Amino acid sequence: MSNVLDLQRRLIALGYNPGPADGHDGPRTKAAVRLFQIAEGLTVDGIAGPLTWLRLKDKGAVPVAEAPAPTSIVPTEWMLAAPMKRIIVHWTAGGHIASSLDREHYHILVEGDGTLVRGHPWIPDNVSVAGKPADEYAAHTLNANSGSIGVSLCCMAGATESPFSAGRAPMTRAQWNAMTSVVADLCRRYGIAVTDMTVLSHAEVQTNLGIQQRGKWDFTRLAFDPSVVGAKACGDKMRAEVRAKL
Ligand SMILES: [Zn+2]
Repeated sequence: MSNVLDLQRRLIALGYNPGPADGHDGPRTKAAVRLFQIAEGLTVDGIAGPLTWLRLKDKGAVPVAEAPAPTSIVPTEWMLAAPMKRIIVHWTAGGHIASSLDREHYHILVEGDGTLVRGHPWIPDNVSVAGKPADEYAAHTLNANSGSIGVSLCCMAGATESPFSAGRAPMTRAQWNAMTSVVADLCRRYGIAVTDMTVLSHAEVQTNLGIQQRGKWDFTRLAFDPSVVGAKACGDKMRAEVRAKL
């Protein structure tokens, strides 16, 4: 294990957020080191020098080798406290980069390479949307926005369901994998259980929640895995992968 990966795992185990444990000493990792140094009364330079390491090892109740691989990727400041009931996952039917229009309709977007982008509405804006103008919350699912967090994969511009064509921005495995980590983070943060009524795709809303939609098929197909076909099969795959990350 690289030093940086070890560092990130120790910080995560202590409740800091160095971003994904990926072995890359980026700005979030440095910021987490600085916060740790402040909390510990160490010299604050964002660099894990010998004294910082000594203190980190002193604090490590769990041997790092036995710690579960952390999959947390959503910045904690994006997940403001609110009583949320479910997570509905979509695709944007746009390109691989989040547009400003995409950002109006979802809380969290996942770009083609797995990069996360925060939408304009905050998650608590969707606690109850009754009587609110549509630009004051994330309007992502017809008549099912209250209590629902909207996550969307930036992809599938120009796609058609039958015959299936993934269009010019097919869903990538990288963004799917990032999405299941995002959903796992949201489940942990908001205490949402992984069931087919609480973690579901837009294509499952009509069947699973009994709320009529307008022919939505996000998602009934996964461009990177053509063997998975249908809303339930795609939803079950998502839920199984989210559970594995919890
Ligand atoms: Zn949708």
